[in-house]
Amino acid sequence: MGKIAVIGAGPAGMAATVQLVRSGHDVQVFEHGKVGGTLWNAGIVENYPGFPGGITGRHLARLMEEHFLGYIDNIIVSSVESIEKTDTGFSILGKDFDGVILCTGTTAKKAGFPGEEELEKARHLWYGITFMDHWQGAKEAAIIGGGEASMDMALSLVEAGMKVTMIHRSEPRGIQSLLETALNDDNITWHESNVKEGRMHGNKAILALDNFELPFDLVIVAVGREAIMPKFEGFDLDSSPTGFFIAGDAIRGGLGQTAIAVGDGVEMAMKMDRFLRTKS
Ligand SMILES: Cc1cc2nc3c(=O)[nH]c(=O)nc-3n(C[C@H](O)[C@H](O)[C@H](O)COP(=O)(O)OP(=O)(O)OC[C@H]3O[C@@H](n4cnc5c(N)ncnc54)[C@H](O)[C@@H]3O)c2cc1C
Repeated sequence: MGKIAVIGAGPAGMAATVQLVRSGHDVQVFEHGKVGGTLWNAGIVENYPGFPGGITGRHLARLMEEHFLGYIDNIIVSSVESIEKTDTGFSILGKDFDGVILCTGTTAKKAGFPGEEELEKARHLWYGITFMDHWQGAKEAAIIGGGEASMDMALSLVEAGMKVTMIHRSEPRGIQSLLETALNDDNITWHESNVKEGRMHGNKAILALDNFELPFDLVIVAVGREAIMPKFEGFDLDSSPTGFFIAGDAIRGGLGQTAIAVGDGVEMAMKMDRFLRTKS
């Protein structure tokens, strides 16, 4: 059977891996972060079938990881920066593969205000809540952004005992149930403003807004996400290279949801299996 590289072990990559191993393929997974991917940021996931009443993103990520690790025991912990086309397939970090399923998901965009990097370096500004353990003791948090992900993270921080200030430039928007919960939560306040500057003062991150400044223990930036694409050498996506598939948020844009990523992962694994059988 074929030798397949799966890049990224979020929901899409984990689902693709399970399906490929079940089909008898030799799978190598590359993951540069935490197995489970972006799902670690999700508070309550209400729309993943099989969990009436919802399940936390963390719990679902752990269950998926346990399932995935039942099928694979060797993950290369490394970032894949480029994928090279060879005569027989693809080469990644010096290893040869018959096919590749790219499941790299998305990365958070920067907010772009002066001082953002200073706050990040001081570990008071983050682009998600994956590593929640880092801010034990934080009481006052700011979330920059007014979309669905920012509200979901705000509710997670409230759950962890924090007061949250939402700083948003336009009307908050998101799925009705989440919007109502966030807007009605007494621990969340809302400021429609730009962030003009950020700086550290003692152990506080100071954000300068349009009309005043506020101090925070923690700042989360949630102003949107963009697809992660390694460099392609010797091929491009327009040429529809055989044996190369993309699954999940990396290709879905605004339709990024866990169930879709899982479905994509299984679908691309089945397409890969069909491709390899036809080839041989
Ligand atoms: C705050 C928040 C709340 C959410 N709530 C919900 C919800 O309620 N319901 C829902 O269905 N979905 C929700 N989502 C969306 C859900 O998390 C994503 O749709 C899902 O995680 C996408 O899976 P994926 O595998 O495509 O990508 P990801 O989960 O992003 O996984 C990609 C993986 O690839 C790895 N990777 C990336 N680049 C490389 C590289 N170059 N080399 C090696 N590894 C790499 C990353 O480390 C990551 O582990 C939420 C997301 C956020 C941020």
